Amino acid sequence: MSSVSDHDDRDLEAELESTGAGKVGIPVDAICVGCGRSRVKRANLEEIRQNPQIDPTTLDATELTSFKHVCHPFGSATWWNPAAILTELLESTS
Ligand SMILES: [Zn+2]
Repeated sequence: MSSVSDHDDRDLEAELESTGAGKVGIPVDAICVGCGRSRVKRANLEEIRQNPQIDPTTLDATELTSFKHVCHPFGSATWWNPAAILTELLESTS
């Protein structure tokens, strides 16, 4: 279990609530392969090759596959590598 949210000045909750984060899936901190930025995204469990019935708090970010998501400055869909599962945001949004 890893969490990076206490160690930087990003507002992860605000990022999750922004339209760019997406509407369905679990909150993950992900890195855009196009521009290298880290953003909070919602990752659909099926998209990251996980059982949709699984308890997301038991997942490890290293087990997740890259997923496609829009990068807004980029303006099109690109690949994102999950860096951490934001379980604290998972609880606050369910
Ligand atoms: Zn990008």
